This record gives sequence, structure tokens and C-alpha cells, in this order.
Amino acid sequence: VSLDLSGHKTRVLTISNQKGGVGKTTTSVNIAAALADLGARVLVIDLDPQGNASTALNVPHTAETPSVYDVLIDEFPLADIIQVSPESPNLLCAPSTIHLAGAEIELVSQVAREHRLRTALDDYLASSTERLDFVLIDCPPSLGLLTINAFTAAQEVLLPIQCEYYALEGLSQLLATVRMIQKHLNPELRLTTILLTMYDGRTRLSQQVAEEVRAHFPNEVLNSVIPRSVRVSEAPSFGQTVIAYDAQSAGAVAYREAAVEIVARGETGLRGGFTPNAV
Ligand code: ADP
Ligand code: MG
Repeated sequence: VSLDLSGHKTRVLTISNQKGGVGKTTTSVNIAAALADLGARVLVIDLDPQGNASTALNVPHTAETPSVYDVLIDEFPLADIIQVSPESPNLLCAPSTIHLAGAEIELVSQVAREHRLRTALDDYLASSTERLDFVLIDCPPSLGLLTINAFTAAQEVLLPIQCEYYALEGLSQLLATVRMIQKHLNPELRLTTILLTMYDGRTRLSQQVAEEVRAHFPNEVLNSVIPRSVRVSEAPSFGQTVIAYDAQSAGAVAYREAAVEIVARGETGLRGGFTPNAV
């Protein structure tokens, strides 16, 4: 089981949902780790001042650490802040620090405020000698300038939906924002991928939410569904993704399957007769 992505374009996905606690960060780090496991070279950009993705990937992100804040506000090159996760040499992280909390406001008065991440990423991809197969951007729970920077830098939106009450609430606002970005800032942006998270097969509610989301978005929803699992939620406290923490757990298996689907759905395609069932 291996990937040959050489010669393909870097896919940039933003993991967004303005609701908190729906699994954005968990999805970002675990899909990234699963992709890295498949042999892809992956960068996670932590765009949430909470820094949970940086924690899960076990990279330093104290107040002194050069971070996404310095990239957005002081135009540091991305290369100067990227760290390698101890989990895999294929797994990179542009960390967030607490300073990023102020960026949302500081950006307002900056030139090209919506394009800052895009410019930094384009410069990095153009100058880096090593290929990068995927960039996953972990967004904060809002539709402010940080998320708009992510939408402007990405080609794809990956929307995690929690299989809970009010799952679809606020979705029209997110879709309207995506359309606004398409029109004014980034015509390339598409909502390509929806991932159902924290699914509890024992409850009628989880099943109903899953059915409803699939009915609305038959093409976007991945077949893989992430189950609610303690192993998934406890992995970050060990500075690990669930892929490393407990590779055989249901959560790790589901995230690996989702990663394979994401690869298969991309224009990058797969070589070597490798199918999603092979996970
Ligand atoms: P967001 O980034 O959207 O705010 P998180 O990824 O931080 O959401 O997830 C919110 C909480 O739910 C976290 O405590 C996380 O550990 C937990 N969680 C996420 N996915 C799962 C899951 N599949 N099973 C159990 N707990 C989960
Ligand atoms: Mg988060």
C-alpha cells in the first residue's frame, strides 16, 4: 500500500465549520497523520489561536515560538516557522500561538488582509525544494478573517459535521461565505468533502443526522464515518494522533479510510491498484 503523488499538484484543504467542537482539529491532525502514513508529505497549518492541532502534533508552540501569527502579520516566510512532528518525518506543522488571538483584529488594517496566507503558501510552494502533497488548514470556530484567509488559500473545503442536534444549523451561513469567497477572492474554492464525525450508531439521532446530511450532499459526504471513541479524544493528551496512539482502534481505522477516500477523490488519483478497501 503506497502512494505515488510525484508530479501532482499540492492539494490545499481547509477544515472549516464555524461551530466549535464539531471535530475540525481532530479531523485535521488525524487525516494528516493518515495521509503521512500512506506516504504523502503533509503540512498542517494551525490557524486556531487555541493551538490544539499544534498540541496534538506535539510541536512546541509557546508564546516565543515563531508561528502563523508572524507569517500573517509580519510576513515571515512559512519555511521559517514550519516544524516536523515527532510522529512522522512526512508530517509538518505550522504552529499557532496565543498571539494569533490578536491577529483577527490586527489583520483588519493590513494590506491584502484576505490574501496573506495564500501569498505565504504560494511563496513556500514555489521555493521549497521538497514536494508537498497536502496542506490541511485547521480553522478557528468563526467566519472571521482567519477563516477567510484559509478559504482564500485553499482549493477545497472539508466540512466536518458532528452527528448531533443542530448539525445543519449555520450551514447556510458557511455556504454563503464560500460563495462570497468564490466570487470575490478565490474562484477555485469548492466544498468537496463532508465528513460525519462523532457518530454513535446506537442512537437514532446519529443515524438521522447522517441520513439528512447525505440527502442534502450526496456527492460530498465520505462513505467513511468517524465513530465517537474515547481513544480519539484521549490521543491528544499523549501528544499523539490516534493513528499513532492506537492504530487498531475504530477511530484510527475510520480516519485512515477517510484519508484514502480523500486521495481517491482528488484529481491526483492513485497508482498501483490501491483501493480504499485495502486499508
Ligand atoms: P473543533 O476543532 O471543531 O472545535 P475538536 O476536534 O477539538 O473540535 O473536537 C471537540 C472535542 O470532541 C474534543 O475534546 C475532541 O477530543 C472530541 N472528539 C472529536 N472527535 C471525537 C470522536 N470521534 N470521538 C470522541 N471524541 C471526539
Ligand atoms: Mg479546533
